[in-house]
This record gives sequence, C-alpha cells and structure tokens, in this order.
Amino acid sequence: MTARVLDGQALARKMQEEIRPEVAAFTAQHGRPPGLGIVLVGENLGSEIYVRNKLKTAADIGFRADLERLPATATLADTLALVDRLNRSAVHDGILVQSPLPKAMGAGAGQRVFDAIAPEKDVDGLTPVNVGLLVQKRAAFIACTPSGIIELLQCERIQIAGRHAVVIGRSDIVGKPMALLLLHRDATVTICHSKTPSLAEVCRQADILVAAIGRAGLVTKAFVKPGAAVIDVGMNKVTDPAVAQTLFAEGHPRLDVFRSKGSVLVGDVHPEVAEVAGALTPVPGGVGPLTISMLMKNTLRAAQARAGQAVG
Ligand code: NAD
Repeated sequence: MTARVLDGQALARKMQEEIRPEVAAFTAQHGRPPGLGIVLVGENLGSEIYVRNKLKTAADIGFRADLERLPATATLADTLALVDRLNRSAVHDGILVQSPLPKAMGAGAGQRVFDAIAPEKDVDGLTPVNVGLLVQKRAAFIACTPSGIIELLQCERIQIAGRHAVVIGRSDIVGKPMALLLLHRDATVTICHSKTPSLAEVCRQADILVAAIGRAGLVTKAFVKPGAAVIDVGMNKVTDPAVAQTLFAEGHPRLDVFRSKGSVLVGDVHPEVAEVAGALTPVPGGVGPLTISMLMKNTLRAAQARAGQAVG
C-alpha cells in the first residue's frame, strides 16, 4: 500500500482564498485592514523563516502585518512592554509572540509573556483564558497547528468520532490542544510523550496518529497500524549525512536535495511509513501551511469581533 498524500498546501491555499474577500470587506467597512503584530525576540534561524512566511501570506491576503523585533539582549520587561503596546493598539487585532524566546530571558519567560496577551487578541490561543475555554469546548481562539490539522482531517473525510487517536507530544502549542480537539470530536485519545513505555506498541493501536515530537524520522513503520492516517507535525532540519541516509534510500529525490543544499527539512515520520499508512501528510507541504492559514483566519475573526461584527 502507498499512503494517500494529504495535501495541506492545497487546503491552506483554499482557506486563504476563502477569507480574501472577507478581509477586503473588513478593510472597506472599517477603513483599515485587519492587523497582526508579530513579536520576534533575538536571532533564531527557524523563527526567522516561520515569521517571514507568516508576513508574506498576511500581506498577500490584504492584512496589515507588523514585525516587532527586539534584540537578543531584550529583557522580559522590554518584551512585556511591547506586548502591552500591542494590546492597546487600535490597529492590531491579533498578537503572535514567536517561540522560543531567548534562553537568557529565564525559565518561565514564555509563559509570562503569553499570560500578558489580551485574550481577545490571542490569535495563537495560548493565553490561560483561551486554553481554559478550549478545555471546556467553547474556545474563541485555538492554537493554529492543531486546528489546522482538524480542518485537514475533515476536508479529507477522515473519520474522527469513535476512532482511536494517538498524539505523540504534550506541548501546550501542539500536543495538548490537539488531543483536546480530537477528544471534542469523540475520538478515544491517548497522549504519548518522552516517558511513555512501549511507544511503538501504543502508537500501533492508532487509527489516527499525530506526531509532534521534533525528532527526525522517529516514527517508523513499526509505529503504524496498516491503513492508519498519520499526521506529521515535526519540522526538523537534518544536516548529518548519516541521518539523511537512514531516512532516504539511494536515488530518493530528497537525498539529492540534501546533497545539493547540505541540509533537508524532514518530519518526525520516517518516509517508509508511506508503505503502511492509509494517508500521510508530507513535510514540507503538509501541516506547516495550514498553521499559517489558521493564523490568518484567527486574525480576521479577532478583527471582526473587536469591530463588533458578526464573526463568520
Ligand atoms: P516540544 O519540544 O515543545 O514538545 C515535544 C514533545 O515531544 C514533548 O512533549 C516530549 O515529551 C515529546 N517527545 C520528545 N522526545 C520524545 C520521544 N523520544 N518519544 C516520545 N515523545 C517524545 O515541541 P513542539 O513545539 O510541540 O513541536 C514539535 C515538533 O513540531 C517540532 O519539530 C516543531 O518544529 C514542529 N512544529 C511544527 C509546526 C508546523 O506548523 N508544522 C508548528 C509547531 C511545531
């Protein structure tokens, strides 16, 4: 069997085209576009790429998107002051603080900063208010990656209700909200993490397997029940030729990418999983683009709600 490819890129584009006229209508009605403020502190190659893609998509659809940069030497107080300014801004409807914050800011800094975001502008769904509302199944804003995955499963008509979903990873931004969203759609949900014994055996019970780990190719065929839907959230940059060779057989086009660029972007799911899974998201082109589209959708909804407009 070769797994059906779940094309996140195509769905992400469709979602962007769906909101484009709504963004134009908002702009015409309110004399300003919906606005997003992105906070980026310090230098981090991954974050630079994520933020660039978000800014590009936002500009393309007609949003106002401002990159608010702070140097790596910025303090927690500097960052909180910036969030406070964006909270009070009339032209910013959504605020996104790009993770991770510099380590020098101290343990718990990320949480302190997320806590400071006004819940009505929390388009990443990370404030305690929005997380609490999600637990109670009445969320206003839900973390963009898991909500994008739900859109993809629904669009691809992959049944969730009554099925066993296994989520590997328990982060606040992916694993936990993913598990809750699946639970709210009547899946039986198991959450696995770095301390889970017999991980492959547990994962093999899944009808829907979500990998949000951050370890290149950790999920092999041994983790997958034949026919399962496998969602690969991981984004890992492989620079070691030995690792690249364990992932891609000689002659594989991605191995050529590695050889020409010196690195290759891979997920948490080993490519061999395509031989057993029923459906699989590619990396790149799977979950990543959906995350950005959900961010755009949340920003538009935040703008509409702040303007007292009925939210679509
Ligand atoms: P994280 O580091 O916060 O969490 C990783 C989780 O994986 C932890 O809960 C940990 O317990 C678990 N884990 C680690 N090693 C494990 C192991 N050997 N076995 C089982 N579980 C293990 O990471 P995160 O922010 O949740 O992101 C996970 C991955 O998803 C990363 O590669 C990240 O880059 C990617 N990501 C992608 C998108 C996207 O839009 N595509 C968005 C967010 C995160």
